[in-house]
Amino acid sequence: MTLHLPAPLSASQWCNEQRLLQKSIGYVPTMGALHPGHLSLIEQAQRENDVCCVSIFVNPLQFNDPDDLIGYPSNLDNDIRLLESAGCHMVYTGTLGEFFPEVEDIHQIDSCDPGPAAKGLEGNYRPGHLQGVYQIVERLFTTVGDCRAYFGEKDFQQTLVVKNLAEKMQQTGTNVEVIVCPTVREPSGLAMSSRNTKLGDAHSCTAALIYKALGKAKSAWQQGIRVAEKLEDIMLDTLQHPDLKVEYAAVRDPNGWTENSPDYPLKQAQALIAAHLGGVRLIDNLCLSDDLLE
Ligand code: AMP
Repeated sequence: MTLHLPAPLSASQWCNEQRLLQKSIGYVPTMGALHPGHLSLIEQAQRENDVCCVSIFVNPLQFNDPDDLIGYPSNLDNDIRLLESAGCHMVYTGTLGEFFPEVEDIHQIDSCDPGPAAKGLEGNYRPGHLQGVYQIVERLFTTVGDCRAYFGEKDFQQTLVVKNLAEKMQQTGTNVEVIVCPTVREPSGLAMSSRNTKLGDAHSCTAALIYKALGKAKSAWQQGIRVAEKLEDIMLDTLQHPDLKVEYAAVRDPNGWTENSPDYPLKQAQALIAAHLGGVRLIDNLCLSDDLLE
């Protein structure tokens, strides 16, 4: 099948037609530069639905750093080839003007409250980022309509914000079930990311310290440590490296997100790290309290 890149209105029409044919839609929003992490979401969407659609849109609203937006990797021809061979049924894109037809320029886009999960961590270090995600995902969900939408656990805080959005949209009649899929990693443990292409070999080795730190926190959890601060110190020790500039190495209760580290003994825990390395910002996280061995 040859995939074209319809604009949001045509994409919306295609999705409506699928629903009229009683077909369930699995939807994967992306910013392109696709890698096996994205493809795992697409495979799951295909397994669990009759048809699968993907969007590719590098959303300027979620870039708090203009240089990050300018340098964001893009390889549309390759993305389309990958999606064709993955058997994706529809891929769409758009412009900010198409997603927000009611405003004349992006500064007029209303600010919104992305909810409590946008507070702390990414909310502190990337001001406006999760609000930008919330704003565009609201339009992406409106375009696709009722569907199952697949997101990567790699962007853990984003999954909480998007679940909150889906709940809000349900009140106005759009039913999106948000499904969170496991993080796909390099053999070194480094979480796959479009930005990894900008890491050289030496930095890739150092980047593996992030997963090592998450693993150490998990071992400590398995040995009975339940205090966020102690788990955070263990991660910070492992992340000691002159090239790695750690923004946070934090633990949160995944079922009761708080802006700051919980000061009570945890029953569930998610460890989250953000660090800069060689001009690239890397994030990763791991559930400490499940029994899964990654
Ligand atoms: P992005 O193109 O970076 O906006 O990512 C699109 C979707 O792919 C998001 O839901 C990400 O969380 C997800 N994703 C990115 N990297 C990975 C990965 N390594 N494993 C699983 N999902 C991922």
